[in-house]
Amino acid sequence: MLASCGLRNTDNRTKPTHENFEAYCPYCDYLNVFNRATDLNDSDSIDGEERPCGNPECQRPFALTYDSIDPTFVLLYYEAQTLLEQKRFGDAIVKLATSIEQFFTHSLFELLAWQRLAANESDYHIADVANRIAARLTQAIDGAAYQDLRNLFLHMLIGGPITTIQDAERTIGRIVRTTPSDAALGTIADPKLQSAAHRLKMLSLHEVRNRIIHHTTYRPPESEARALFQGTEDVMWTLVDKLDVRFESLGI
Ligand SMILES: [Zn+2]
Repeated sequence: MLASCGLRNTDNRTKPTHENFEAYCPYCDYLNVFNRATDLNDSDSIDGEERPCGNPECQRPFALTYDSIDPTFVLLYYEAQTLLEQKRFGDAIVKLATSIEQFFTHSLFELLAWQRLAANESDYHIADVANRIAARLTQAIDGAAYQDLRNLFLHMLIGGPITTIQDAERTIGRIVRTTPSDAALGTIADPKLQSAAHRLKMLSLHEVRNRIIHHTTYRPPESEARALFQGTEDVMWTLVDKLDVRFESLGI
């Protein structure tokens, strides 16, 4: 399932995460941890850029290679998995919830604005509409929490397949933050997509996440964490495959 969602760096000399890029110096073997916000100009991809080694006795510049091309939600998902294997179940669930929230945002922008624009890059009219849609989306998700983002995403699915920029514009005009009814989800034509939408509506990931980070400081057992991972992976990767949103077409 993982292999279907982007390429994961496997060169063992570097480790890209959402926040950091870790790289062993090729000259002295010092492990450099570059923070994207602090050390790398907040860049999402620094592939090929040179930075001096942080070892005071070396300081030789070397190229940072094999940065991830995965979108943020995939990087966060990998980090959640690592936390799960470290038996940090509460942290893993919090990270997993952030990953799926990023997936909602990523998919909304990709399907409503950037994919249509990427397919017609030279069409200035489409560029105008796509930018207008992106601005409306930015407004729609302002301050949105898990349930709001999930509902916006589900309403986009209810709006039907988006194959033209006109479809996208119609859909953005209709999406709201209210929870869609089961009957509305039942109008999604593709059976696999419809089934995934129903399972997504039932997913309790955000409720468990809230119990962990809020006043009860809930400590989830392994069985609950693994069940939540299974349920989330099942829904998220089905949607990733069906909607073809495993990469960023133009970046957000
Ligand atoms: Zn070095």
